[in-house]
Amino acid sequence: MNKKNVKDIDVDGKKVLVRCDFNVPQDENGNITDNRRIVAALPTINYLLEHNAKVILCSHLGRPKGEVNKKYSLKPVADELSKLLEKEVKLASDVVGESAKNLTNNMQNGEIVLLENVRFEPGEEKNDEELSKALAALAEVYVNDAFGTAHRAHSSTTGVASFLPAVSGFLIEKELEFLGSSLDNPVRPFVAILGGAKVSDKIGVIEKLLDKVDTLIIGGGMAFTFLKSQGHKIGKSICEEDKLDLARELIEKANTKGVKLLLPIDTHITTEYSNDYEDKWVESQDIPDGWEGLDIGPETIKMFEEALQGAKTVVWNGPLGVCEFDKFKTGTYEIAKVLGTLDATTIIGGGDSAAAIEKMGLSDKMTHISTGGGASLEFLEGKKLPGIEALQDK
Ligand code: AMP
Repeated sequence: MNKKNVKDIDVDGKKVLVRCDFNVPQDENGNITDNRRIVAALPTINYLLEHNAKVILCSHLGRPKGEVNKKYSLKPVADELSKLLEKEVKLASDVVGESAKNLTNNMQNGEIVLLENVRFEPGEEKNDEELSKALAALAEVYVNDAFGTAHRAHSSTTGVASFLPAVSGFLIEKELEFLGSSLDNPVRPFVAILGGAKVSDKIGVIEKLLDKVDTLIIGGGMAFTFLKSQGHKIGKSICEEDKLDLARELIEKANTKGVKLLLPIDTHITTEYSNDYEDKWVESQDIPDGWEGLDIGPETIKMFEEALQGAKTVVWNGPLGVCEFDKFKTGTYEIAKVLGTLDATTIIGGGDSAAAIEKMGLSDKMTHISTGGGASLEFLEGKKLPGIEALQDK
């Protein structure tokens, strides 16, 4: 997967349309509560400014569903960007209308215009050709730096790339480098850790990883479907009954391929899905009726830790317990700490596991934390991401 990036194309004096992921969390007053996605876009924006480009930024924010809705305006993003860049960022009041055209028509080199929320346009999520052409007409070069939406074929992520020279920004380049090299050429031993609520969300990833890894560690809610498929008693733990056969097949496949597949051996259980009820630790194969497992236990943590020792590449997607509850975040936290001590390339798929690691303050101990939950899963499954496919090959 060798796609051109901003360095492979002449941007001097050119109008460059950059698709960013400015989908930031906000409080009820519209204040940005976490600006990391904006900060993550700065390397590409700064590179373009330093190389005399006229920078036109676009992004979605929330789900306005094709209608103009002030609640989802990018105004707070324009203000934050302006502060971070110490430079004026002009906000167009529309996406491809009069305001966007006026502001982008008369740009000087080094100037920045931010278009309004692309999802105010009904054509955006339909990958409408007219909208893609209208976006392309504003610029001379297209840069996609929004990995989090790269698995969606929308006008601003995919369609527009048909009408302009299209390359990636530094953020997407970094994602491809880390996620891609872990799959194509992993330094071994290669260990994958999968958790989260459901097996069904991760079937594609498990199948793909079974062809690649030396060890597959399974925790979180999805482990119970595997445990039950082996005849174990799982109480009222989360389980997908219609995936029991599949779980059994995946365990067999791991055996056939010589992949070490590890399931929890002890479990932290409680009587209700809550932080506030009676709890205890039991063997994972014998969870009593009326109890459910919400985290891995200390023996499992020890076993997973041992399996991680010496690993040279680790990919992790999905928390190992209900880490939203203080009582049941231990497994996720302890394994994250272990990852932080390894002399290995550690790659965290986005979404809940990335959020958990950030909340625990362990982000800077990881080699790479993906900015895309759904996108990183689809990438690891080996699916082609339309927002990346649309970019020019090197
Ligand atoms: P996913 O989006 O599939 O990665 O799932 C993340 C969710 O899985 C988190 O919200 C966790 O609370 C949940 N989860 C992890 N372990 C368990 C468990 N043992 N039982 C129920 N939910 C779990």
